[in-house]
Amino acid sequence: MKLLKILFVLSIFFSCTTEDDYVPFQIEQVFSDTLERVIKVDIIYVQPSTRSNQKSYNLDETHFIDNLNGSFFHRHGIGLEMGDVKTLINDELYDLRDNRGTESSTFLRETQDSYKEDRLSIYIIKRAHTVAIAGIGKDQRALITDEFLYETTAPHEIGHALGLFHYSEEGNIMSQIRPYLRKDFTLRQIDVMKSRIDEMKSN
Ligand SMILES: [Zn+2]
Repeated sequence: MKLLKILFVLSIFFSCTTEDDYVPFQIEQVFSDTLERVIKVDIIYVQPSTRSNQKSYNLDETHFIDNLNGSFFHRHGIGLEMGDVKTLINDELYDLRDNRGTESSTFLRETQDSYKEDRLSIYIIKRAHTVAIAGIGKDQRALITDEFLYETTAPHEIGHALGLFHYSEEGNIMSQIRPYLRKDFTLRQIDVMKSRIDEMKSN
C-alpha cells in the first residue's frame, strides 16, 4: 500500500509528497504592521454537482489566513489579506482520480474562469480525492486538500503559486524532503514572491 502510494505520487508532475500528511508545524507566530507587500487571497471550495455528494468544509478562513501570516509570511514583510470566499461546482476538479498524471494541467484548465489575476486563489478539496498540488509561475493558484491546510503544505503550495520551484535544502518550505522539518523560505525565495506579487497587482 505504502509503495503504491509512493509510485502514485512519483507519477505526478508538480505534486508534493504524501509525507505531508499529519505533520502539524510549530512555528512561533510573528505579526507585523509594516508590510512591504500585501496580496489578496480568495478561498474557493470545490464541490461536485450532485447535491447529495456535497461535503461540508469546516474551515475558519480568517483564522487560516492569520495562521499563515503569523507563521510564514509577515516576518518577511508579506501579508496575505482575506479576499472572497466562494464555491466552485466542478466534478472534474472535485475528484481528480480520473486524471492521474495530468492533475496539474486539469487543475489549471478547470480553474481558468474562476480565478482573478490580481490575487491568489486557494482551491480546497476533500482529502479523499487527490494529493495536494499547486500551479506554478504565472498561475497564482493553489489546490490544497482540506486536511493539509494547517500543515506546511499550505505555504509550500502558496510558494508554487507565487513562482517558486522545489528547493532541496532541508528545512526549506519548498523542500520535498522531510516535510516535518520545513519552516522557512530563503531570502531569494522571498524576493521572487515579492516580485511575483508586484506583477500580479499590475494586472
Ligand atoms: Zn511542491
